[in-house]
Amino acid sequence: MFTLIDLPYAKEALEPVISVKTIEYHYGKHLQAYVDNLNKLLTGSGLEGLSIEEIVKQSSGAIFNNAGQVLNHNLYFTQFGPADKVANAPIGALAAQIEKQWGSIDAFKEEFVAKGVGLFGSGWVWLSAQADGSLVITQEPGASNPVTKGLKPLLTFDVWEHAYYLDYQNRRAAHLAELWKIIDWKVIEERY
Ligand code: MN
Repeated sequence: MFTLIDLPYAKEALEPVISVKTIEYHYGKHLQAYVDNLNKLLTGSGLEGLSIEEIVKQSSGAIFNNAGQVLNHNLYFTQFGPADKVANAPIGALAAQIEKQWGSIDAFKEEFVAKGVGLFGSGWVWLSAQADGSLVITQEPGASNPVTKGLKPLLTFDVWEHAYYLDYQNRRAAHLAELWKIIDWKVIEERY
């Protein structure tokens, strides 16, 4: 049985980048529904007891879609914090690797947002690590997660409309640009 993760911050802590109303729907309704659907679908599937990552790697169809969305959102919601409390720039070995590959943090951010804006329809843009520590940005459609490609997921922007429509309507690029303010790079560095 999977349960809804706890948020490591108060519902209003991410305002104005992400409003209380969006947290209430995106976390409280959408993510809760993925968790509930996954628990129902797992009964008798032979996948009960596996970690969420293993279920995503081994499943297809409805189980994959719901498990992928649980994993994606768990990583998404736990990477944020209040803008005045987070480590708001990459740190440590991760910062050095980003600078090595992209030349600057700004150049990395620009490519990351461009790939999020350029993803047609619903999905996710990810920064992930390969086994040798090198980094890669991928676009994942629908419920997919970089673990399906053998990558270690570090950072993600959700580009499903439910992530931003209440606050930004159709302005996906504006939403993604604002998200940098609440990314806690200490969390991302720990995942690396
Ligand atoms: Mn979402």
